[in-house]
Amino acid sequence: MSEYKILIDGRLTGAARGGMMDVINPHDGSVAASVPRCTAEDVDLAVAAASRAKKIWKNTYIGERADKLNRLAALIRENFDELVSLETAQYGGPVGKTSRFDIPAAIGEFEFMAGLGRSMTGLTISANPNARVMTVREPHGVMGLISPWNFPLVTAVSKLAPALIMGNTCILKPASCAPLTVLRLGEYIIKAGIPDGVVNILTGPGSDVGEAIVTHPGVDKVSFTGDSSVGKRILSLAADKVMPVAAELGGKNAFIVLDDAFLDGAVEAAVYAAFFNSGQNCGSPSRFYVQAGIYDEFVSRFVAAAKRLRIGNPTDPETMLGPLAYMKCRETAERYINGAKRDGCTLLYGQALPDELQCGAYVMPHIFEVYDNRIELMREEIFAPVVGVYKVKSADEAAALVNESSYGLCASVWTRDYRRGMLIINELDVGTAWINQHLEIVPETPWGGRKASGWTKENSILVLDEYTYHKHIWMCLDESPNTFWREQITP
Ligand code: NDP
Repeated sequence: MSEYKILIDGRLTGAARGGMMDVINPHDGSVAASVPRCTAEDVDLAVAAASRAKKIWKNTYIGERADKLNRLAALIRENFDELVSLETAQYGGPVGKTSRFDIPAAIGEFEFMAGLGRSMTGLTISANPNARVMTVREPHGVMGLISPWNFPLVTAVSKLAPALIMGNTCILKPASCAPLTVLRLGEYIIKAGIPDGVVNILTGPGSDVGEAIVTHPGVDKVSFTGDSSVGKRILSLAADKVMPVAAELGGKNAFIVLDDAFLDGAVEAAVYAAFFNSGQNCGSPSRFYVQAGIYDEFVSRFVAAAKRLRIGNPTDPETMLGPLAYMKCRETAERYINGAKRDGCTLLYGQALPDELQCGAYVMPHIFEVYDNRIELMREEIFAPVVGVYKVKSADEAAALVNESSYGLCASVWTRDYRRGMLIINELDVGTAWINQHLEIVPETPWGGRKASGWTKENSILVLDEYTYHKHIWMCLDESPNTFWREQITP
């Protein structure tokens, strides 16, 4: 089993107190690796290193910073196969997905940000003819980057890449159940020649290491992606030191199918978006609102397509759905499945788990017919392949039901009538809305929610606002500032 080390001040090392924790393969419960279990002591060391590196990195020419990002992309490419298998071993993403999506997306993020950052601009403001007024974008300083496990490498890189190109130094903490690819990135940070202390990578429990990062007086901003309840905790800790937080939180996303939808496309997207990555996507739809005229046909084809999904060992290239990330996720999903039955839903599809998959965190896809939008299946984020379908009379009814959620990450509308689609989208309280598409997220387009899903943006040019602030500079062109006290105080 290979050794994994954290990165502090340009050195690969163990945790200060020598602690270790196991990373479990969710396919069979075996130990995939052991990694350092850091404590607040390591956070102190990492923040000290990142603070020392602040000035040098901020004052490094942006073209040179971009070169380092491109070098990181190249190193990921060189180690592609190892990263694919590590990603699969630690969180169960099938190799067909980790090789087609996770690792290429991480490469794409670094390369996109390397280019995008170089076009960063500030504002010039015509405030007064005797002045030149501008804003200059400056990095926040030391940033805490706390990432989730559902796409372990790319969710970390989608924070690290903009933070670095904008001149911030970082403490990056990946999720405890899936830190291996991010720890490998620590090795590439050294190889890429990024100055010591600019990137520090720590592993350890969020409740301990994560909170020590958030509350540390030397951390200037935190960017967090994860569960909404953890997000609330981080926001409350940050409020104490009046620290900004970028928060990308959970979702309970809707998929609205109108009578005039292109049915083939709607069914293909429904199965893909709901069950890709075993439903462990912040953007996955888990509430389907389907208009009465197309309801029966959509539902029967949705179920038929779900039956064709291949579930099993994620190392098999034919596998479409692997296990969930860890055993507790399976228990949570089973609780929701039983809850849906208790709440009177009709099970349209959902087989018992076959014997050969009892070994791991597997959950079979489940589709329920739902009669009440207020039940937990329609309210709470499950993060598993478990969805509800609800029959609506009209588009307006669907929009109203979508907005009953406390979440507001994303939604899609399926219709041939784009005008009608746009009118519905106008009504939806979400950060991203698609017409005839769902789950299409690329570096060029902004991603982020509303309400309990958070408010900040990742990706696209808008992400630069999360990793810089505008310093306002006013230059007076006159010899005197010309205040209205002038005459009274001039002898
Ligand atoms: P969690 O919120 O459980 O964990 C996310 C990260 O936060 C982990 O690194 C975790 O560490 C850390 N953490 C946990 N508790 C604290 C704390 N008290 N203080 C500081 N850090 C803490 O999320 P998951 O990893 O389970 O990821 C799934 C969630 O992420 C879902 O809700 C999903 O919707 C959301 N998500 C949202 C996205 C978006 O763009 N809106 C994108 C992807 C996911 P540890 O692992 O050690 O507990």
